[in-house]
Amino acid sequence: MDLFRYSSGELFVEDLPVRAVAEAAQTPCYIYSRGTMEAHFDRLVEAFAPIQPLICFSVKSCSNIHILRALAARGAGMDVVSGGEIARAHAAGVAMAKCVYAGVGKTDEEICEAMHAGVGLFNCESEEEFENIARLASEAKQLVRVALRINPDVDPKTHRYTSTGKKETKFGVDLERARAFFARFGNDPWAKLEGLHLHLGSPIYTVDPYREALEKTCALVDLLARDGFSIRSIDLGGGFGADYESAQSPALTQYADAILPLAKPLHDKGVRFILEPGRTIIANAGILVLRVLYTKISGEKRFIICDAGMNALLRPALYGSFHFMWPVAPGTEQTPTRRALDPKVPDTVAQDVVGPLCETGDFLALDRLLPASIKRGDLLAIFTTGAYGMSMASQYNSHVMPTEVLVDGTHAELIRSRETYENLLAPERHSHQLAIHGVHA
Ligand SMILES: *Cc1c(COP(=O)(O)O)cnc(C)c1O
Repeated sequence: MDLFRYSSGELFVEDLPVRAVAEAAQTPCYIYSRGTMEAHFDRLVEAFAPIQPLICFSVKSCSNIHILRALAARGAGMDVVSGGEIARAHAAGVAMAKCVYAGVGKTDEEICEAMHAGVGLFNCESEEEFENIARLASEAKQLVRVALRINPDVDPKTHRYTSTGKKETKFGVDLERARAFFARFGNDPWAKLEGLHLHLGSPIYTVDPYREALEKTCALVDLLARDGFSIRSIDLGGGFGADYESAQSPALTQYADAILPLAKPLHDKGVRFILEPGRTIIANAGILVLRVLYTKISGEKRFIICDAGMNALLRPALYGSFHFMWPVAPGTEQTPTRRALDPKVPDTVAQDVVGPLCETGDFLALDRLLPASIKRGDLLAIFTTGAYGMSMASQYNSHVMPTEVLVDGTHAELIRSRETYENLLAPERHSHQLAIHGVHA
């Protein structure tokens, strides 16, 4: 599952003690295990080998350019959703032809940047967006490849904020509209409509939604063929699970078992497959390490107050997500054997783990069983935070962003340094008067 484990009463990341890494990088600090993310990537490649998909890592799940570079070195392309992510993929040295560009709200500027950079495939979400991409492509006299994001109306049974494949979400077009879409735009000379894209939501802990969505997609491919349009690529999106608790997720081979029987015949007919995993590669490859600043008892409640909260990790406040957390050096008696809501360790007590922000919603866990002995100065590890952790962090309350470290065996690389207050202030330092046209003061 991952290379974070307790030994002799303290937590290690690969071959290094987490305490030493966190002290060198300063908290709050995200620590990633290179071996873990590479193993996850390799397992995906193996599981889906019969259809040889292009694996486009979801940059929004974890955007650090050193992480992107490490995955690109293993053959990954990137799934980007903004001009900023295209810039990140570019800075990481990723081949742009291996990048797919999604998102419901691409600006003209971003579309032009993506065309100019040579992004491999535009995942288009609406008729208006297609018309706009086609117009910009024809103006630039540049051919672009486009896949239509379809909405197969499948319920992935995940949080409503992260469920994207149902009819009533803002993403893609439904299956009836997809046929009309091809009829209308399928012969555009500059924007070549040649693929289908779907992404059902995240995380999805059963394989059935994938099977159901792919069945509907196959039926659509047949209908489109009858209409005279041949589909060259199918992008199945991401959404594969991660182990927020021990052994919570199906193995990647189980997802593959559901997908391959339907996908292989299309692959054999020349359809190219794309996957866009984020979480399943990087979530378990990262932890967030915080310092306990204070402990406090208010009435019946016990609080652990850390040096960061929702500014470093938004998921618990935003989605009510569960993250296992435990002291970095609990001692052998209190070493947990599994990650779970109740890890069955002696001498624990229910406590709220909160951050320093001036918001009651600023919590990382509520009523969580944690060692009663936790005290000021201890380090706390928040597990399975590699995905949608740092990439959702903010400077709210003018806290500096967490640092990031990439560990490979006994080697630790600081891949994001600690911000200075000057970093916070720089965009505000020099104000200047805007030239507003048509106004004479
Ligand atoms: C967020 C997103 C992904 C990645 O989802 P994971 O659950 O991290 O695998 C893939 N494709 C699209 C279009 C997305 O929006």
